[in-house]
Amino acid sequence: MYDYIVVGSGLYGATFARELTNAGKKVLVIDKRGNIAGNIYTEKQEGINVHKYGAHIFHTNNKKVWDYLNQFIDFNRFTNSPVANFKGELYSLPFNMYTFNKMWGVVTPEEAKAKIEEQRAEGEKARTNPDGSVNPPANLEEQAISLVGKDIYEKLIKGYTMKQWGRACTELPAFIIKRLPVRLTFDNNYFNALYQGIPMGGYTQMVANMLEGIDVRLNLDYLDEATKKSLLAELKEDGKVVYTGPIDAYFNYKLGTLEYRSVRFENETLDIPNFQGNAAVNYTDSETPWTRIIEHKWFEFGKDENGDDIPKTIISKEYSSEWKPGDEPYYPVNDAKNSKLYESYKELADKESNVIFGGRLGEYKYYDMDAVVASALDRVEKELA
Ligand code: UDP
Repeated sequence: MYDYIVVGSGLYGATFARELTNAGKKVLVIDKRGNIAGNIYTEKQEGINVHKYGAHIFHTNNKKVWDYLNQFIDFNRFTNSPVANFKGELYSLPFNMYTFNKMWGVVTPEEAKAKIEEQRAEGEKARTNPDGSVNPPANLEEQAISLVGKDIYEKLIKGYTMKQWGRACTELPAFIIKRLPVRLTFDNNYFNALYQGIPMGGYTQMVANMLEGIDVRLNLDYLDEATKKSLLAELKEDGKVVYTGPIDAYFNYKLGTLEYRSVRFENETLDIPNFQGNAAVNYTDSETPWTRIIEHKWFEFGKDENGDDIPKTIISKEYSSEWKPGDEPYYPVNDAKNSKLYESYKELADKESNVIFGGRLGEYKYYDMDAVVASALDRVEKELA
């Protein structure tokens, strides 16, 4: 008989199960897929760890979380430095001195600053009222121009953002673009994080190590009534369920469906060793239908770009798509409507005294991986107190 049944073997479920087990609890982990690791699942093909559910680059400022995961696997020193491709012109991301040099030919930070200032002033003029007062940026377009100027907005932001969100930059909130660093230094590191890397051997190996010695059963859908009944028969009287699936699905969508942004991948195996020379290339024009191309081998080192090691390469073209029920959920849409619906589901969840809801789907929250681990560690600590 089990003390806990953990539904879902993603990062939240694996962390929770590990900590419960370490505390002497008897735990069963189940997953409806035929594999562990949820959306961080990597699959080895042609000797390359393919990120099957999209690129995952671990980055954090949380030393506790970093040390925690490093118990299970070593991370390489991968640094995310995407390249932007605008109609064949290549630019460094995030916006930094390399980008400004390529865009304007400026050489010093002072020249770059002056150029941005000049373009920003034009944007500000458009937001100036007759009485001389200036309105704050009201949408993503105005915000972007105010941060980096019109040239960069037109070539590196406008088309990409429109494809990613399925709507014009003038209809999107300003805050989205504030995630991106703007630097007057030659630094292509996309993240402002102290610790960054990819588990050597892939995320699936990391999760397998986390789940070592724990009972795992795959291809089991907890929301199937018969399956649920037989599983609960193996749970001790005072046992609990840790549910990491979609919260609305748990309640059979009875209050309505929470929305997600979805992504679709077209994977290709190519008979060349090196397709684009970088893990991520963003296509920032509006005509190219995909938002970016991921070349999986560059997430890990020790792969010879001349093809002596691996003569092939695997790429994924990523298309952003409107989510519809039945699609794989990726990004929660935390707008007012969906947040309100989530709150109603949360009220129902709080009444299920022997079920813990957690993770990106269980809490309908746009968690980065490090936040998932932090949240699971926090919650399991309370559970064991
Ligand atoms: N963005 C852009 N051009 C790029 C990369 C990002 O305009 O080449 C914008 C886009 O609006 C995106 C936002 O910056 O939604 C935040 O980017 P981030 O990479 O943080 O988005 P994520 O893929 O993590 O959702």
